Amino acid sequence: MNQKGLLIDMDGVIYRENHLLQGALDLVAYLLETATPFVFVTNNSAPTPEDLVVKLSHLGIKNLSARHFYTAAMNTADFLAEMHPRCTAFVMGEAGLNLALQKAGIPNDSINPSYVVVGEGPPATDKLVKAHELIERGARLVATNPDYWCPVKSNVTRPGAGALATYFEASTGRRAYFLGKPNPYMFFRARKMLQRHTSEVMMVGDTMETDIRGAIEIGMQACLVLTGSTKLEDLADYVYQPTCVMSGLDELLQDMKGEKPTDRLHSPTFSPNSQPATAGERYRHANPTDFRPRPRPAMTR
Ligand SMILES: [Mg+2]
Repeated sequence: MNQKGLLIDMDGVIYRENHLLQGALDLVAYLLETATPFVFVTNNSAPTPEDLVVKLSHLGIKNLSARHFYTAAMNTADFLAEMHPRCTAFVMGEAGLNLALQKAGIPNDSINPSYVVVGEGPPATDKLVKAHELIERGARLVATNPDYWCPVKSNVTRPGAGALATYFEASTGRRAYFLGKPNPYMFFRARKMLQRHTSEVMMVGDTMETDIRGAIEIGMQACLVLTGSTKLEDLADYVYQPTCVMSGLDELLQDMKGEKPTDRLHSPTFSPNSQPATAGERYRHANPTDFRPRPRPAMTR
């Protein structure tokens, strides 16, 4: 494999909770050393790129700058600025979203906004009521990303922007539009930052519904790493498939260095003996007498 640019997901790919995953440090060092263009892409709309520089620095990855990050908040701001010059927004989100909208020249408006923009973060009750009222009066509903839940640590999650958008869809009957992965606009804009053609870029991610789906739909190579949310045995459930599957970033780095070429598709879906789990098998897995945790719903809608 000879890649000329990488888009790299963060949670479940380079870190989990507050520790780096194996290979992350070496991969970033290699990318910087070889001047391989790369951007970290995240559906988390809460942090600013500068926050992410600091976070990765604390985890041990130094020498990064804000230009190495593209968030769903920035993607939302880029989209609205392009689609609707001089629009205004009522914002439910954190610093990353507010700053991205401000940089794109989109003012806050709690009287007659063009959009209600929903991002990550716990909503204040009075803002829930206000946003509902504004949507009913004609503001369009936009969410930074479709994630219903986000990992906090193993077996602990928090509600995501997708869940909050669904709340407003239910209360107003209006449909939300979702930016972030897997929306191809996220991949289009992140790829532009690399100044490479789509065929010269590969997405590296751990989640089928967002990282892999969006890349495949825009015609980009997609590498699934098995250090996060998607397990190898889950692959047979999906219509779309990654271009390659790696155990983690250390294997990807070996591949990029040509030490251990693994450009074959590892997906069990293409194994002649593979069959998706039957309904009966799923039921057995979900049998409450197993005292196993309830199966988690899909990460996005
Ligand atoms: Mg991830």
